[in-house]
Amino acid sequence: MKHILIAGGGIGGLSAAISLRKAGFSVTLCEAAAENRKTGAGILQPQNALAVLKELGVFEECCEHGFQTAWFKTFDKQGNLLFKVSESFLDDKLPGRNNILRKTLNDILIKHAEASGARILWGKKIVAYEETPEAVTAVCDDGEKMQADILAGFDGIHSIVRDAMLQKEIEKEFLGMGAWRFYIELPDYTFEDATLMYRSGETQIGVVPLAEHAGYVFVLQPCTSDYWDEEETRFDRVKEILSGFPGLDFVTKHMSKEHPVIFNKLEQVAVQEPWYKGRVVIGGDAAHAGAPTLAQGAAMAIEDAIVLSEELKKHDDLETAFQAYDERRAPRALKVQDLSSEIVRRGLKGEPGAEELIGECYAVLREGY
Ligand SMILES: Cc1cc2nc3c(=O)[nH]c(=O)nc-3n(C[C@H](O)[C@H](O)[C@H](O)COP(=O)(O)OP(=O)(O)OC[C@H]3O[C@@H](n4cnc5c(N)ncnc54)[C@H](O)[C@@H]3O)c2cc1C
Repeated sequence: MKHILIAGGGIGGLSAAISLRKAGFSVTLCEAAAENRKTGAGILQPQNALAVLKELGVFEECCEHGFQTAWFKTFDKQGNLLFKVSESFLDDKLPGRNNILRKTLNDILIKHAEASGARILWGKKIVAYEETPEAVTAVCDDGEKMQADILAGFDGIHSIVRDAMLQKEIEKEFLGMGAWRFYIELPDYTFEDATLMYRSGETQIGVVPLAEHAGYVFVLQPCTSDYWDEEETRFDRVKEILSGFPGLDFVTKHMSKEHPVIFNKLEQVAVQEPWYKGRVVIGGDAAHAGAPTLAQGAAMAIEDAIVLSEELKKHDDLETAFQAYDERRAPRALKVQDLSSEIVRRGLKGEPGAEELIGECYAVLREGY
């Protein structure tokens, strides 16, 4: 039985652990963080994400702990409804979308990975690897060396495994936007069956239901590449942005410092070289981190995990399996990523056409993987 070492216990790495175990491989996963995240914002799971969660065997649990919506409603800053579109684009039997806290999703994936027999090592960062024709040996930050048949790098946008494999530090493209995210409780507001989006100029604010009276808010606004919002100033910054949206008073009045605001600049990594070399392979954000405008990053990472397991099960020869994985995954994931960043670019230039790009993405996603 081949032994596979996974770097990274995010959505991609944990999904890889579950699907590789299902395919009959022995799995050890090394996660740099000392434990699962304690806080965090939410994640939107469109219909294609729900389809892959079904394959992983975690769909029901995700829906049980999440909040399902059928509509995506867009408002102006005053709160006037501009239009609403159905979130269903793939399968009428699935909910339009599920929204879930990232921590909850990770808890579910960790539980299933452990139950499947994967070994998860927390506080174990892979910092380098050495390879011989017979094995790959990962070097951890505590000095431990771990040997395996395959090293799978699902270690995110700043992937060390990817850069070591490509023997260069890959360039991240800044997309011109900052993203603020936070959890919110809304005791006097009841979410119905819609994910809400408010737009004014180049600023977009999403209000995503996670329960009847709780949700997750994301704010997208242009910023320069050298901009950074420190933890101490984020709350006031977001409050100031929201104050320009009277239609969001129902959110602004409940903002609380109890729930930290997360800030990221939107960056993209698109690995055009093969996503494998020798005994090493990459997937998820390590290969294709992108803009969150189509909410596809996690779905693409899970698809990578499932396809990698399928191809490794099908082919004994590593080169053949990795090549088949790359051929199935790279064109699709990079296309979805490109459409996601094009929405950001057009928005920044004030050009219309986002609906057309969303339609194009749905056409790609309907083709299957
Ligand atoms: C603002 C924003 C909003 C988003 N919203 C959505 C959304 O609504 N829906 C959606 O589908 N996607 C969304 N995404 C994208 C999504 O978060 C990512 O695509 C997804 O998390 C990728 O998963 P991953 O496992 O590949 O990487 P990550 O989630 O980054 O996980 C990588 C893991 O590897 C660990 N790690 C890093 N280096 C090492 C190492 N050397 N050794 C061991 N462990 C290591 C990290 O600690 C981390 O746990 C959003 C992204 C952003 C920036």
